[in-house]
Amino acid sequence: MVNFPALQTIAMVGLSDKKERPSYQVAKYLRAQGYRVIPVNPALKELFGEKAYPELQAIPPEIKIDVVDIFRRSEEVLPIAQQAIARKVHLLWLQEGVISESAVALAEQAGLTVVMNRCMKKEYAAWLLQEQKNIYDVIIVGSGPAGLTAALYSARSGLKTALFEGQTPGGQAATTELLENYPGFDKAVSGPDLMIRFLTQALHFGATLITEEVVQAKLQGPMKVLTTMANNSYFARSVIIATGARSKPLGVKGEETFHGRGLSYCATCDGAFFKDRKVVVVGGGDSAVEEAIYLTKFASQVTIIHRRDRLRASKILQERAKANPKIQFIWDSVIEEIAGDQQVEKVLIKNVKTGEKGCYPCDGLFVYIGHAPSLDFLGGAIELSVDGYITTNSNLATNISGVFACGDVRNTPLRQVATAVGDGAIAAMAVEKYLSYQE
Ligand code: NAP
Repeated sequence: MVNFPALQTIAMVGLSDKKERPSYQVAKYLRAQGYRVIPVNPALKELFGEKAYPELQAIPPEIKIDVVDIFRRSEEVLPIAQQAIARKVHLLWLQEGVISESAVALAEQAGLTVVMNRCMKKEYAAWLLQEQKNIYDVIIVGSGPAGLTAALYSARSGLKTALFEGQTPGGQAATTELLENYPGFDKAVSGPDLMIRFLTQALHFGATLITEEVVQAKLQGPMKVLTTMANNSYFARSVIIATGARSKPLGVKGEETFHGRGLSYCATCDGAFFKDRKVVVVGGGDSAVEEAIYLTKFASQVTIIHRRDRLRASKILQERAKANPKIQFIWDSVIEEIAGDQQVEKVLIKNVKTGEKGCYPCDGLFVYIGHAPSLDFLGGAIELSVDGYITTNSNLATNISGVFACGDVRNTPLRQVATAVGDGAIAAMAVEKYLSYQE
């Protein structure tokens, strides 16, 4: 069985510019499916806006050819097969009525997959029919506010939409106890509750929720293929990446040992374990300060350790933290080690200005030193900004055709639920437009 989603560029040898010829019809069809078709015919200069080449060897080496599709008389196939082997293509395709056992033997010996005496258009159409029920218009990876909004808009506009929940259903917003800057709620709204409402709304409009983790993505070409931890493959004509960002680790001694034993990256999840205890929060951004304030609900004392002498967090959060009698600050200091017996008992700290070292006893440590985008499943296929986030244009399209990114995972000046929601809507509308051009 030919793996059609893995193919992208087809060199069509013998492609004619005469509309009544089968090669023209096959090329037109395959192009409509999103394949790039490079004409190989000495009688042509260009076709469908693609430069034509007199022979395979003349195609510049930087153009990666996946398939050589042959519309030539059977006795002329052998030298073309030799050129295809030299070009290291994956697949040699001899159209209906083109038969050359010697070319097949040679190509197979060289490790190529060969299809003989078959029409690529008919085979692709048959594959499509068989897979139709499994092919989504759009797959959205990630179920934070950006992904959920994208799912709502896509499903509501009639696109067949799948939403992959990911490791953290609801994203970071679902681990935030209260959101007080999401418009429309004059009293702070619970993050988990809001995300459940987002999800319910997306499902109401027909999005399919898939509770599997995507571990691999093939995004090039017309058919995107996403593979999950359960080893299932899902097909889509477009993909929206909304995988957000996850907490950065401190990278100090003891961090792995004490994770889950007093060390946490989620105050909403673990704060209640620290009733009447002393905890440390490391970081100086919105997350650190907001979560420190939240932790005062449980802890007897919360100490923010920050590497500078002023916070990065928004003014309103700073003022609240400074006015909270349970919160104190250790400035200009970094944590060098987390220590204890079975549980966190202390952190070893260093003043970055004086070099003075010390030991600070505590029962728990919450790390909030920023976030890094969750991109592992992409395997380096996508263009990133210098700080590692996905680069998009104003339609939230990435450098790969049919692939969009929204929310915290992309290079954006603001990471809020409100901006993620706007992003999700833009990405979904851009997908709709993209798919309408593909039809
Ligand atoms: P952030 O704004 O990047 O802040 C990270 C903090 O950690 C900074 O204070 C940084 O210090 C410190 N830091 C970084 N690396 C460190 C290290 N190795 N050791 C010690 N400290 C280190 O990240 P965030 O707080 O997670 O926020 C992420 C985004 O979400 C931001 O855009 C934020 O505004 C948004 N957010 C908004 C809200 C809200 O509006 N309510 C709530 C949460 C998050 P420096 O200051 O010296 O760089």
